[in-house]
This record gives sequence, structure tokens and C-alpha cells, in this order.
Amino acid sequence: MKGVAIGHFNISNLEGLHAIYRAAKKLNVPVIIGVSEGEEEFVGRAEAVALVKAIREQDNYPIFLNADHHTSAESVQAAIDAGFDAVIIDGAKMPFDENVKITKECVEYARQSGREVLVEGELGYIGSGSNIKDTIPEGAGILTRPEEAKKFVEMTGVDLLAPSVGSIHGLIKSGKPHIDAALVSEIRQYAGVPLVLHGGSGLREEDFTNAIKAGVAIIHINTEIRLAYDEALKKSLAENPSETTPYKILQPAVDAVEEVVENRLKLFNMRS
Ligand SMILES: [Zn+2]
Repeated sequence: MKGVAIGHFNISNLEGLHAIYRAAKKLNVPVIIGVSEGEEEFVGRAEAVALVKAIREQDNYPIFLNADHHTSAESVQAAIDAGFDAVIIDGAKMPFDENVKITKECVEYARQSGREVLVEGELGYIGSGSNIKDTIPEGAGILTRPEEAKKFVEMTGVDLLAPSVGSIHGLIKSGKPHIDAALVSEIRQYAGVPLVLHGGSGLREEDFTNAIKAGVAIIHINTEIRLAYDEALKKSLAENPSETTPYKILQPAVDAVEEVVENRLKLFNMRS
């Protein structure tokens, strides 16, 4: 586990999936594809499952699909029923007891599914939305206490835990807070399950490597790939105003996402 983390990247469409897969395959590392509730609605729940499964089976490749930040038991259950490999029940904004209750319910549902579905719980609110923000959102960024993490894991039975350890969802214009690696390490010991780092976009390289060494097993990146896609697509449209073939217009956006993902995966998979 030391020195390596699996990259988790979100998609809104098929181009994103291809870009992420190409980057992972180039480096021959496993990868997780995420869809939030909004992304899932746009791509299609069953379609997302079918696309990822098609790659996994066709190339015998370790690529997995995660229901990112699902906020109700119903949407988690629908993702499990549809065939997702992993789900996140995000009760981070809820009071501790309510978070425990909904997370436990989702864990029980996953266990009864007859498949091996990993369930991740969230403890400590780190804001929401993969976008550019001026400042850290109100109420976000209060660090998770190790004893509380232990209690949460014991009470819910989650397979993975996302604590609040300094990162914030999105890119913060006023500067990204640092990852508290000592806290990561302490929470990892107390929690006893692998940790997931959200809000990875815009963090410094050493924050990632320190977090991985301290016990982070999965890292989420979304905003960075959205920005790369958006910039490349706008440029492509501006530079080729008469082009009408979607796959030609979109190719630079795919390449831009691939580059971002490749660089992040290289960093997450450095064995030092
Ligand atoms: Zn997240």
C-alpha cells in the first residue's frame, strides 16, 4: 500500500472515459471511473456500467466504476442494482448519528446484493462541486477527529473512508489548504480501513505523495480534468469554426484530459 494510490477520475461522457482509460493503459495501472449523481444522470446509469464493463472484459483490464457522492440511500441502491463496483454514500453534511444511520443502511444493502460492492463513507464536510471557487465554502474543512473516524467505521462497517484532512472540493482561488499528513496517518490507524482523498485538484505534488505515504489509497481528481476539457474544446471550436465532425472537434479535448490524467497517475504510482 505504501507509495501507491489508485486514481479516481470522473466522466460526463464517452470522451472522458476514453481519455482516462488511455492514460491508465499507457502506464499499466488500475483506475477508477467516477460518476456523481449529476454525471450519472447525463451519461445514463446502465450505460456507465456497460461502458466500463465493456473495457474491463474486452481488455481484461482493472478498471472500475464508482457512484461518486451519492446523497440518498435510494440513489446508492439504484447504483448497486445497476451493477456499480463501488458506491459512496455522502452524509458528510449530516450530523454524526444521521450520517452513521444512512451509511449503515447502504452498507447493509451492498452486502445483500450478492456481489462484492465496496461502500465508502464520508466523515467531515469538505465542500461540494468540482468547480472554481473564490474561497473555501462556509462550514467546510473542519478536520476529522481520529476517534470519531474509528467510531464511524465500527458503527457503519464501511470498506473505505473519506475523512476531512485539509483538501476542499474544487479549485480554490484564494489558495489550497495543505494536507495534514500526520492526521491522515493517525486516522488510518484508528479507522483500520483504506482512506480516500477527495478534492485532489490543485494540490501540490508533495501533498499527494505525503498523503499516499500516510495511508491514502484512492485519490479523486475531477475539477482539473473538467478545466482541461473545457479549455481544449473552446480552443478547438475557435480555431476550426467550419469543422462540424464531432470526433474531430472533440479530439483535442480528449488529448488534454488524457495528459492531465497521465500526469496525476504517474505521481500516484511512484514507488519510492
Ligand atoms: Zn469528492
